[in-house]
Amino acid sequence: MNLIVQKFGGTSVANVERIRNVAQIITDTYERGNDVIAVVSAQGDTTDDLIKKAAEITSKPSSREMDVLLSTGEQISMSLLAMAIEELGYPVISLSGWQAGFLTEATHGNARIKKINTERLQNELDKKNIVIVAGFQGINRYDDITTLGRGGSDTSAVAIAAALKADKCEIYTDVDGVYTTDPRIVPNAHKLDEITYDEMLELATCGANVLHNRSVEMAKKYSVKLEVRSSINSDVPGTEVKEVCKVEKMLIKGVAMDNDVARISVLEVPNQPGIAFKLFSALAAEKVNVDIILQSVGRNGTKDISFTVSTAHKQQALKVSEEFKEIVGAKEIVFKDNVSKVSIVGAGMLSNPGVAAKMFEALGESNINISMISTSEIKISVLIDQDQAKRAVNVIHDAFAL
Ligand code: ADP
Ligand code: ASP
Ligand code: MG
Repeated sequence: MNLIVQKFGGTSVANVERIRNVAQIITDTYERGNDVIAVVSAQGDTTDDLIKKAAEITSKPSSREMDVLLSTGEQISMSLLAMAIEELGYPVISLSGWQAGFLTEATHGNARIKKINTERLQNELDKKNIVIVAGFQGINRYDDITTLGRGGSDTSAVAIAAALKADKCEIYTDVDGVYTTDPRIVPNAHKLDEITYDEMLELATCGANVLHNRSVEMAKKYSVKLEVRSSINSDVPGTEVKEVCKVEKMLIKGVAMDNDVARISVLEVPNQPGIAFKLFSALAAEKVNVDIILQSVGRNGTKDISFTVSTAHKQQALKVSEEFKEIVGAKEIVFKDNVSKVSIVGAGMLSNPGVAAKMFEALGESNINISMISTSEIKISVLIDQDQAKRAVNVIHDAFAL
């Protein structure tokens, strides 16, 4: 008897026909003698629509009430899916996040899972029920509903798979698997049979929203067997995400694009020790996550410091930078939010020199200017103008013959 955790994203449960299709996938898995827990997202654009509804009432909703509101999207899906499974004549029960035992940090909007009390889930499995769980949500120590951040249902699924030591976690979505880049941007992107946790984590963190990055982090930590596959072409094998892949010649595995970026530059900062610490500790104190950092060499006693943040943090980052400018006597703040980060990822670059040069050559030949660069062991990211980002992804994808 195997335990399979399956997760179905928003498009996969968007309407009656799609819900019936998902009910069939789940009951087929159950018929094959498996225990099944299915995690669902809100239908279609429901989460975005709920955010719009809140904005019609207030420009400053409390984060607690936003979580109460957003958690309802997943609860609609879970009950409709359970009804579709009842219709097919199978024993099923739906559980919201707290009923399924999800305990999270106190923070609203982007809470991390602390623990899953698996008792209820296990009881339902023991009763031979198919269990449907609302993704993206839990409860904190004050018994308040929390959500896990956009795309967080993937993490709910992997967390259940880890907590119950499931034999497999299948993420069903609207593409056939993980591609060399977003197939909606590059039509000739191709599907990967497998990818390492590390590569997938970098791609997801760099904007490939096919998996929530925390779900990949958790899958790696608890060695969860993960597969991304299509709920529409459900008999086509997807992409396995695992610790090691077959040795292959590919220099890089994929290209990702992230438009959720803003750049701030503080110009002519006094060139003294401790200056960078002052700025970045003030940003950290405001819980602003900084991504790429670039500092120029000092000239005439001053230097420039530039950094990027997600657009959600831009107001706080600007406020901190203005205060810093006044305190240290810097000259000017330059802000830009129509920028994108384009990244290449692949373990192949560890042992192959010239990967960065090849990326920069492709951009240079297409007249795309790079304003910042950052690298890690298996990733190179560049910051460019947003209106050139899709073209950049295409030319880089071509250059590496992916
Ligand atoms: P779900 O609602 O199922 O969670 P998402 O919209 O969150 O689905 O994620 C699937 C989408 O991710 C795809 O439709 C695709 O446009 C996008 N995507 C971005 N990068 C990739 C990639 N490298 N491979 C596959 N899909 C990708
Ligand atoms: N419904 C949530 C979102 O749209 C969570 C998810 O789909 O994973 O972000
Ligand atoms: Mg998603």
